[in-house]
Amino acid sequence: MWGVFYFMKEYLEFLKIFENAVLDAKRDIDEIELIAVSKKKPSELIREVINHGYQSFGENQIQEVENKWIELKQEFSKTRLHFVGNIQSKKTEKIFKLCDVIHSIDREKIVQKLKSCEEEYKLSKEYFIQINTGNEPQKSGVTMGESESFIDKCINKYNLEVKGLMCIPPQNVNPEDHFLKLRDLGKNFNLSSLSMGMSEDFETAIRCGATHIRVGTRIFGARS
Ligand SMILES: *Cc1c(COP(=O)(O)O)cnc(C)c1O
Repeated sequence: MWGVFYFMKEYLEFLKIFENAVLDAKRDIDEIELIAVSKKKPSELIREVINHGYQSFGENQIQEVENKWIELKQEFSKTRLHFVGNIQSKKTEKIFKLCDVIHSIDREKIVQKLKSCEEEYKLSKEYFIQINTGNEPQKSGVTMGESESFIDKCINKYNLEVKGLMCIPPQNVNPEDHFLKLRDLGKNFNLSSLSMGMSEDFETAIRCGATHIRVGTRIFGARS
């Protein structure tokens, strides 16, 4: 019980900080979707946030989506679920079925699978392409060198309805350079949605034009 009260206090404080960051950047709060990344957090806490009126959540593993969100979505049909993790090709169909927005497209094979899901289920979802702006070998995402041809292929060869681009900057560097790189790349393709900014750098991301910020720790506390 006290755990939940403590959590709600932190959460409400974070919302204020978020709103102030939007004001400071002279942005309009309606153009920024705050995604509460609930990975490794129990349904009980997620329910608290939903009951507070919040509807946008993120997860990075399909197993966790299945464990928590099949039930939560039945209970709360208005919630929007964002998949922000690495997409395994054999899990693509499950991700398509259970999530509303997919942030992490980075290979042609995944695009093909998503297109065949769209045909099979007569549904489309919202998609972001993940760009590995730091060209880090251990990280998902399309490298900068391949980004333009990959985006072009998604849009023109596969007719995928790409909404925007997503990135996770390298640790211990100034994230601003990466956010601006993502924004410039998006501009070249008229993609105005930018999924960027996490607990540590959301204020910078908002200043750089983020339209979707993905915040876990600052909302739900540290993950074990
Ligand atoms: C976990 C995660 C987040 C949230 O990270 P925090 O630092 O806890 O805010 C955002 N985006 C992705 C892709 C994640 O995996």
